[in-house]
Amino acid sequence: MPHASANRPGSVFRSNAASRSFSQVMALSRFLVLMGNATITGKVIEASNRPFNPEKAARYNAKSFTGTKTMGVLLSVLSDLHKSGIKVSDIAAQYWCERQMELRARHGAKITNEIRKGAQIHGELEDQVNVPMFLQPKSYPDYMYKQLYTSHAALVSLRENGKGREIQMYGSIGGYRLVGRIDMLQMSGGKVVIWEDKTKANGKPPSEAQLHTNRIQLLVYRRMLDDLVSGDYTERNFTRAYSTEKMVLTAEFVRQLKALGVPDPEMDIGRIAGRLFTEFRGLGSVSDSMRLRYLQQSTGNEIQIYSFDYNKEETQGIVKYVLGYWNGERESNPVPESEKWKCEWCEFFGDKCKVWWGQRG
Ligand code: SF4
Repeated sequence: MPHASANRPGSVFRSNAASRSFSQVMALSRFLVLMGNATITGKVIEASNRPFNPEKAARYNAKSFTGTKTMGVLLSVLSDLHKSGIKVSDIAAQYWCERQMELRARHGAKITNEIRKGAQIHGELEDQVNVPMFLQPKSYPDYMYKQLYTSHAALVSLRENGKGREIQMYGSIGGYRLVGRIDMLQMSGGKVVIWEDKTKANGKPPSEAQLHTNRIQLLVYRRMLDDLVSGDYTERNFTRAYSTEKMVLTAEFVRQLKALGVPDPEMDIGRIAGRLFTEFRGLGSVSDSMRLRYLQQSTGNEIQIYSFDYNKEETQGIVKYVLGYWNGERESNPVPESEKWKCEWCEFFGDKCKVWWGQRG
């Protein structure tokens, strides 16, 4: 029977007690001491009865806590999942099912036809508003340059034509690298409006749960964009976080850039990053109103557009909640009982995750 839980903004959580790291156990102990009977803002919190296993904790500790002490703490969960940073889509996925997000990071996500088709539609939309650029990166620095270059071109397109698509954003959350890619920025009434596109195979409007997850993504995008526009996250932070001054482009990629007409001094990651971040700071006012658009997968036709307002306090709550996981203060949460219907669609159900397997209908 599943037990143990943590809370996330807007929901009551229950989870099974799977393997727990030393830091998680310590954090949970501190938490329980602080909370007593543990009722927070009306949400019921229950603790696991699973006994602390010092051997297991020591193994986890030895495996995960590498590097300097400070960096060890910061990198523990990420390095355990072989990740170097957090994506905004990870954060949104934590709100669908955090356990599923973790399992996908650990075992790989299944690339379905639906995902392939969605990527194709995104590519077609991108070509409609950006100048298509055929750059084929050969290394990580090449790839990084391409992201910066195409995102810069998209922001120039926004400034000149009122629309730019597929804009990569860099930022920070709790000291971790954070990356996100906005589907579209559009000028409306003198303000920049964030758009996110989602494709659906069945052509039906999204469920409440899908809307909730997708809305989380938009809120975090907006927070990142605020940091970029205000200069709270600049090319200096970026250069430090990614050590870009050590990056060298491949000769083949340089040849491609030459063919595109990129001048020699511009073939430098620091230089193109500077251009992109300057463009972000010049964006002006960002609208509090954001758009979520659902498209029919086979045709690309619009199903429905939703409008949401930014809520800074709610976004702070989201960041606090998700960091609990990334900081190793708690294990990943599976879905609560009220959302166990999601398990029927999950590739790990009954295999790597049996939380609700015994209670399937
Ligand atoms: S089976 Fe259910 S609880 Fe487990 S990872 Fe999948 S969706 Fe989450």
